[in-house]
Amino acid sequence: MQVIHPFSGTVQHYNEEIVDVNQYRPDGCPQCEDRDPLTGHGFYRRTLVDLNFDGVIRVRRYLCNSCRRTTSLLPDYALPWLRFSISVIALFLVARLLSGLTLLAAARAAEQQTMPYQRGQFWMRRFQKQARALSLALAARVAPPAAPDFVSRALRMLESLGWIAAHRFLFSRLRMHLLGWPASLAPHG
Ligand SMILES: [Zn+2]
Repeated sequence: MQVIHPFSGTVQHYNEEIVDVNQYRPDGCPQCEDRDPLTGHGFYRRTLVDLNFDGVIRVRRYLCNSCRRTTSLLPDYALPWLRFSISVIALFLVARLLSGLTLLAAARAAEQQTMPYQRGQFWMRRFQKQARALSLALAARVAPPAAPDFVSRALRMLESLGWIAAHRFLFSRLRMHLLGWPASLAPHG
């Protein structure tokens, strides 16, 4: 199970802090409600592209001694199953779908001027599919603004809440993914 690890700082800073097994050790199991602190269980590696980072990060994993399931602490600027950070995707989507810039200009706004245009189109398709569910879910946190469609409404709500804060809420409380889960990874319940 992945849980969100709120983290303010650079990716480099995260990479240094995550070395200490105790610093963010969960004091109970989120999966079986066991109240004993979890045991360090190594890391897994994943790639990440952020505004000032392009490389591999390690994600800390813990083991519950009671149910034997693992819990990993995903830093809150990264999205499960996507290589690009929330900030990069947010800059692109706002530039393209809210400000109406071209694909190329939107990629430039996200500091990804050399990326293939298909990547941006993929993010847009996922977001458009997810926009209605996002606006409904985020209404628990911010009043829905008047907007011509669900896409611009969801974007405005994300802008006013902050994308990373909104992601923490959606993922932790509702197991909802900003760009929607691919069918193969959709969590149950
Ligand atoms: Zn457990």
